[in-house]
Amino acid sequence: MNIKQVMKDYFLDLDQAARDPDRRVAWCTSVGPAEILRAMGFEVFFPENHGAMLGATRVCMDTIPKANAFGYSPDICSYLTSDVGAYLEGITPLTKAYGIESVPRPDILVYNTNQCKDVMHWFEYYAREFDVPIFGIHPPTNVPEVEESHIADVVLQFEELIRVLEKMQGRAMRAEDLRKTCALSKEATDLWAEVLETAMARPSPLTFFDSTVYMGPIVVLRGTEVARDYYHLLLTDLKIRVAARVAAIPGESKRIYWDGMPIWGRLRSMSELFKDNQACVVASTYCNSWIFSDFDPDDPLPSMAYAYLKIFINRNDQYKEDYIRKLVAEYAIDGVIFHDAKTCPNNSNSQYNLPSRLRKDGIPAVIINGDLCDLRCYSDEQSSTVIEAFVETL
Ligand code: SF4
Repeated sequence: MNIKQVMKDYFLDLDQAARDPDRRVAWCTSVGPAEILRAMGFEVFFPENHGAMLGATRVCMDTIPKANAFGYSPDICSYLTSDVGAYLEGITPLTKAYGIESVPRPDILVYNTNQCKDVMHWFEYYAREFDVPIFGIHPPTNVPEVEESHIADVVLQFEELIRVLEKMQGRAMRAEDLRKTCALSKEATDLWAEVLETAMARPSPLTFFDSTVYMGPIVVLRGTEVARDYYHLLLTDLKIRVAARVAAIPGESKRIYWDGMPIWGRLRSMSELFKDNQACVVASTYCNSWIFSDFDPDDPLPSMAYAYLKIFINRNDQYKEDYIRKLVAEYAIDGVIFHDAKTCPNNSNSQYNLPSRLRKDGIPAVIINGDLCDLRCYSDEQSSTVIEAFVETL
């Protein structure tokens, strides 16, 4: 079971589902309630994952301008503009990768603004385009602490979503199905957390750049046996590497924390750059965003409401600072790199003085400017110079 095969099987099955009148497809945001959709018998497609593919393949450099010309600003989420542009052009990287003609047509669109409001605008476009129902979860955002009242609010919204799905499927939600998907999600996410924690070893057996590939199933296959089994195998493999002291970065001498989005179109060159400098990016805010340790199959809706409210991106600045400090200590980090992504302020945490606060306490931190997809906002030369100089000073 390797990652390429897991992702291929997932997309081929989705493609089949979209062609099968007896199966239904839901589009969901990356930290949306996928477990509820799966428990109600929907196959789930994640447009952000498609955006990342458009970024990694750099196809987005043709599709973003298309969306811009159509009226979507170059300043908004470049997952959105990459994806909408691809839709307008009638292209998808799924064709080259798996021979799939187009993304699966949705029967319903479900978003959660726990991460940002761009997803709402994005899904609203497709609701108009496909003329299908849309359901938004609107939780309290940027919370210092998750309160009981926040959980109750989101549970009510989940219950309303379930009623909508029940109507579409012509059957009631079976408690056992929800319990099972929640249990599978919990197992997969706990294994994913353990996978990431293997990077606490010195030398680390994996880098952030490896993890951006390994993370596929925890994003798109939460709530399935496939995701759980994949992470079980991956963890076993990584534990063997740790025991044998196999280093992801030969001669690892510096350990880095990456905050913010990956630069999808530059994963390989970035990975090489750190390797050349014997620096290993051992932890990141991004990959940790799919750790939902609080899922509880015996109390699925409140525990899912809590876990999805609690995510890093949905918290206040003090929480974020404390979180990064904690990981800096746990992973023996030498320095923090903040990626200020032009089109995703939601996932760029350098804009409110956080790097300065860390520096004041002796934690080296630097900011690079770039973007998740739009390489017009990124300079290879500038970033390489900044990163090399930063690593040298550590
Ligand atoms: S969090 Fe950022 S990258 Fe993700 S959908 Fe929202 S704006 Fe786009």
